Amino acid sequence: RRAELAQLKDRPTVSRDGKRVELAANIGKLEDIQRALDSGAEGIGLFRTEFLYMGRGTLPSEEEQFASYKYALEKMNPKPVVIRTLDIGGDKELPYMELPKEANPFLGQRALRLCLDRPDLFRTQLRALLRASAYGNLKIMFPMIAVLEELLDAKKLLEEERAKLLAEGVRVSDKIEIGMMVEVPSAAVSADLFAPEVDFFSIGTNDLIQYTMAADRMNETVSYLYQPWHPSLLRLIRLVIQAAEKEGKWVGMCGEMAGDPNAIPLLLGLGLHEFSMSAGSILSSRELIGQLNRAEWSDHAIRALGMRGTREITQYVQSIRNGVT
Ligand code: PEP
Ligand code: MG
Repeated sequence: RRAELAQLKDRPTVSRDGKRVELAANIGKLEDIQRALDSGAEGIGLFRTEFLYMGRGTLPSEEEQFASYKYALEKMNPKPVVIRTLDIGGDKELPYMELPKEANPFLGQRALRLCLDRPDLFRTQLRALLRASAYGNLKIMFPMIAVLEELLDAKKLLEEERAKLLAEGVRVSDKIEIGMMVEVPSAAVSADLFAPEVDFFSIGTNDLIQYTMAADRMNETVSYLYQPWHPSLLRLIRLVIQAAEKEGKWVGMCGEMAGDPNAIPLLLGLGLHEFSMSAGSILSSRELIGQLNRAEWSDHAIRALGMRGTREITQYVQSIRNGVT
């Protein structure tokens, strides 16, 4: 069985009816890159940069960050690497930064909110990314965006650093795609406002579920509300994909849901273009997608959007899976 799956390693990911999608890996440290390649990843869909900042006593320098990003881009080249800018705050703390204590850290100064408040810190990361872009296929992604101004402010800082580097004679790629994560319901509901301003969206379901359900993703007592297949989630995902398609942009997903074999048929049906998951799920997901008829699952997904809840949807999906494949 493993040998059978291994044959899919260097194959493209194509549904039974010929729809091409991309399977990428989520990584949290540089050592994960080799494993992603060995597992047949067509790219890195989420490079969590927090590891560069955590478990140490000071902020990482521009040079240190540049070296890490360059390594990842060169190793994956020409495959794409989506690097997410710093997503600290919430549950992830940086003791050396002395961030103010917050009553609700997940609703507080997290990720891009912190970066926009500390442009010195953010500019350092952006410069390291821009410099590394000369060495591979870089895509930059901003986390936790709630309103358009945040995206525009982040893009402005990026363009300012790009201009400075070019003036210094530093090589910067002019093909860097700029995207944002969709993990706040406001961004999903108003995806059409963001779509003209990005090259891609990547849906972060881990947070999108917690914020949509108002249920802490770490809190066991409300874990019953953690329902990736709830119609509310599927509808948000659909809104994002529709808004992107109108503008000719692509949509990925880098939350856990993207690698869930029970969710993949519906996500394919909704029109998701890229699935980013832990490396270990890639080959089996490629095999699964090869068995699915995308056009049929598009109809099933539309039907699921109108169902009453998670149980109804899961039973429906299960019954089709059992009958058809
Ligand atoms: C997400 O929220 O789905 C996501 C991929 O980001 P993280 O899990 O790092 O918050
Ligand atoms: Mg997140």
